[in-house]
Amino acid sequence: VLTSSHGRTRSISLTSKPDPHPHRLGLGRSLTLTPQSSRDLSFQNLEDLPDIFTTYRKQYDPLRDKPRATVPRPKEGSLPPLPETSIIPSQPEPFAIPESQEQLLQALVSPVRQILPATPEMPEGASTVHPFTGGEDSAQKRLRHLLEAGIMANYDKTRNGLLGIDFSTKLSAFLAQGCITARQIHEALLGYEDGTDAACEQVEGFGMGENDGTKGVRYELLWRDFMRLCAQKYKAKLFRLEGFKATEKYEASEKADRWKTANEDDAPAEQDPSPQKVGELLERFKTGHTGMGLIDASQRELIHTGYTSNRARQNVATFLAKHLKIDWRYGAEWYELLLVDYDVCSNWANWQYVAGVGLDPRGKDRIFNPVKQAFDYDKEGAYVKTWVPEVRSLEKLENVFQPWTTPSTELEASGLTEDVMVKDPVIRIQFSVGRRPQNPRRTFRGRRGNGGRPNGQASRPSDGAQTDGQYQGQASYRGGYRGGFRGQNMNYRGGGGAYRGYYRGSRGNYRGGYNAEWNQPQSGFATTQQQGGI
Ligand SMILES: Cc1cc2nc3c(=O)[nH]c(=O)nc-3n(C[C@H](O)[C@H](O)[C@H](O)COP(=O)(O)OP(=O)(O)OC[C@H]3O[C@@H](n4cnc5c(N)ncnc54)[C@H](O)[C@@H]3O)c2cc1C
Repeated sequence: VLTSSHGRTRSISLTSKPDPHPHRLGLGRSLTLTPQSSRDLSFQNLEDLPDIFTTYRKQYDPLRDKPRATVPRPKEGSLPPLPETSIIPSQPEPFAIPESQEQLLQALVSPVRQILPATPEMPEGASTVHPFTGGEDSAQKRLRHLLEAGIMANYDKTRNGLLGIDFSTKLSAFLAQGCITARQIHEALLGYEDGTDAACEQVEGFGMGENDGTKGVRYELLWRDFMRLCAQKYKAKLFRLEGFKATEKYEASEKADRWKTANEDDAPAEQDPSPQKVGELLERFKTGHTGMGLIDASQRELIHTGYTSNRARQNVATFLAKHLKIDWRYGAEWYELLLVDYDVCSNWANWQYVAGVGLDPRGKDRIFNPVKQAFDYDKEGAYVKTWVPEVRSLEKLENVFQPWTTPSTELEASGLTEDVMVKDPVIRIQFSVGRRPQNPRRTFRGRRGNGGRPNGQASRPSDGAQTDGQYQGQASYRGGYRGGFRGQNMNYRGGGGAYRGYYRGSRGNYRGGYNAEWNQPQSGFATTQQQGGI
């Protein structure tokens, strides 16, 4: 039983079966919305909340016109005074009343410090992209900066950046802690868009209405609302392995096949990898030693700073749930422990979404390739090199992103030969740059135009239009399989044996496109390794 950084006491079970936490949501309540909530919504009963985000979003189009005005700031002296500190009874050991804000912060953070396995040294030259302290003043200061420096106006172009304070708003922690509200953010955007906020005069687009940047911020905030409503609608299913769509009849066999656990009591006898092995993999996943650069960088950034970008979070969650097929709730609990912006609804519903058990219409078929994602979003390798200093001396990007691919002479020179990321990567993804596929047998073309999304459905809030799915690719199976991959979901229809799929990046930004090969991972996982198609 631990006290988290958020001051709550709860049990955490990273090596045992994660349990549902209905107490966290007031989950026994009915599905009828309160008058306060329903006045902003187009339905009265949560059962009518659409399961597809796009359907929900369309009900509020144009979103800019919908939010109510903010409640005015209370006049000074209008609130009852704070209680006298003298009325707080003294506390017996082991409890203590902090005497300063600094002591309070230490007390809040110390349980996290105790849990972290041998906290690594902060890499030289690395710094947090989330250097903020809490509180309303701090939130307002950040909001003013975002507006006046033109960051809101450019949000759509920068939001996928991995290594910078101003690539995205960094408002999530303020929102999660109640230091600012979504309506306050919306109203501040109006000042810039309508040209009434003189402080933004110099910013491009001032007074010219909503632009792609400000629209993008509102769009993300709507996702936040949606996830809160989903959590209210599905209640304890927020924490169920099978997700929101769980039925009592969830097939035990599918469950066992799809999700590996570290819990010996829960694992089927034949589980491969064994629960003990899953426990070991989880340790490496948490501390960022999987051998997959993008994932390791993000996990180390999280440990050191409590923050990691949305792009990185999506990849981390995909990696655990879809590449390693490990119970996604281990990852959600890890995030719950460490995120500065932890929010029960956003965290667990996003994990579900990415794990393919939530409300993503593409479910388990949406898979990111973490190597391609690294090439796309960490073009110089700066992010991975910042947080995984071991690979800083490696020359080629593909080696930085997967150190085991480095030639032995270079490994020796960089002292990496014996490193676990090289000797025993959790997964190996064959991926080569700037070369045409060898012996392609089948081709498929990822859907384009609507971002490849079926029926115009929105992709993940943060997929943007640049997910792995935009591949033109060729797949071949070396074991003699002739069926190739089927359609955009690329369901692998063959059984047994290794297969190789070759994909050509459609955007052609790496020397005329790059090719990737996929192998069965070496670790014995029965992975399907489908690629995008979104
Ligand atoms: C696996 C996973 C776990 C996550 N856990 C959390 C969490 O515990 N708390 C949290 O606030 N967000 C969570 N997110 C959503 C998102 O990653 C963060 O909100 C975002 O990275 C915070 O950075 P930002 O404020 O700069 O976001 P921006 O890109 O600037 O977005 C603006 C605001 O919109 C909201 N928002 C953006 N993306 C999402 C989203 N996908 N879902 C819900 N709201 C969103 C946030 O309030 C954010 O502050 C998670 C995403 C994933 C994939």
